[in-house]
Amino acid sequence: MHDKTIAELSAALAARELSAVELTQALLDRIEAHNGTLNAFITVTAEQALEQARRADERIAKGEAGALTGIPIAHKDNFCTAGVLTTCASRMLHNFVPPYDATVVARLEEAGVVMLGKTNMDEFAMGSSNETSYYGPVKNPWDTERVPGGSSGGSAAAVAAGLVPGATATDTGGSVRQPAAFCGVSGLKPTYGRVSRYGIVAFASSLDQASVIARSAEDLALLLQAMAGFDERDSTCVDLAVPDYRAGLEQPLDGVRIGLPREYFQDGVEPELAKVIEAAVEEYRRLGAEIKEVSLPHNALAVAAYHVIAPAEASSNLARFDGVRYGYRCENPRDLEDLYMRSRGEGFGTEVKRRLLIGTRALLAEYYQDAFLKAQKIRRLIHNDFIEAFKQVDVLLGPTTGAPAFRLGEKSADPVQMYLTDVFTIAANLAGLPALSLPAGQVDGLPVGMQLIGRHFDEARLLNLAHRFQQATDWHTVRPQNFE
Ligand code: GLN
Repeated sequence: MHDKTIAELSAALAARELSAVELTQALLDRIEAHNGTLNAFITVTAEQALEQARRADERIAKGEAGALTGIPIAHKDNFCTAGVLTTCASRMLHNFVPPYDATVVARLEEAGVVMLGKTNMDEFAMGSSNETSYYGPVKNPWDTERVPGGSSGGSAAAVAAGLVPGATATDTGGSVRQPAAFCGVSGLKPTYGRVSRYGIVAFASSLDQASVIARSAEDLALLLQAMAGFDERDSTCVDLAVPDYRAGLEQPLDGVRIGLPREYFQDGVEPELAKVIEAAVEEYRRLGAEIKEVSLPHNALAVAAYHVIAPAEASSNLARFDGVRYGYRCENPRDLEDLYMRSRGEGFGTEVKRRLLIGTRALLAEYYQDAFLKAQKIRRLIHNDFIEAFKQVDVLLGPTTGAPAFRLGEKSADPVQMYLTDVFTIAANLAGLPALSLPAGQVDGLPVGMQLIGRHFDEARLLNLAHRFQQATDWHTVRPQNFE
């Protein structure tokens, strides 16, 4: 049952072919068996999960169940969970037990999901490989010598290895799509403002978005349905009706215009991976879509602009971790200054410190014009590129990454090489657009992903295109050998 989708499990629960308690216990056993190898979970909440499962079974018995009642999921460890350790994979929060739930966590709980635990990630979601976690790296289930991607590597690896059918995650510059691509699963970053950020530990507030990882587009639709919608506790959450995502999945693709951004097919894409994407484009042509080349002329500037804006926002957001209010505090501080310096110095890891220094510098009066302000102008140009492209086409398609998962340690010595792995994902965050990665094929036995980017609030279109592709092909059903 561990390789089934949420939709299949939901049907099995409704038909009483299995109970939520049986399903939960089976997945807890798998976590127990495999987490030592994968390190995908920081915290496993077995007792609480079994209790939630019992309650779900009662709801099912009473005929009060919804599509997600009794479905086990995991939350990335930057979602606040009341009474459950929430570390952000940082020493700074190694002892933080939030007194409240993130809105996403609360909404999914209301829908009846069973939380199995909290997944590993890059520290404060800063990274592309999951190697910056204070709790050690996550391993890719397809090849445990390789990274699962980051920063939501724990969620992606857990879904790929059949430890859980779906998981929440966050995407600030690609942290859902890149690990989904590296692990052969599907990941959706909704439009900025579609899902509440309340209770998610902030990294870069103008870019962060609550997201989902699962094994199919249909499952992404089910999870997004429960998460999306206005929340008065997040002032950037948009008050807009949420469509019925599942109802739109089957729509035919006749006449849908797919744009291939020229810049996504040039440098930086391995030839074998480019062939996989070309085959996917052919599949869409067969399904009735019209294919057109378009251009995003400022894409080459996206990574640089992001690495000014994101650290600048992080330097402000992470100022709250001062050793006084909550989180890590150094031993025996001499005075207040020593308390601040050592608590932050000892509590944060190297990559987080690098970002805080870069971000603070970009905001200094003497650099603001040339760094922060310039990056904001580039952000607007990138946004405008998309608006122009969407005058000609309905959706954009390209590779999610330029290559399959790299080896552990391969890029950790060179931050710029690491940052460049996000060259196809970052622009969607800068423009606030929804984007989805789905398995498109394999290169050297490793999964690779294709990315679909849509108009603002047009998640339904992305889910529709991804679902149609998954009905016509079976890349999303291929599982890593050692975790079948
Ligand atoms: N990999 C990017 C970074 O290092 C994006 C991270 C994210 O989306 N959280 O910042």
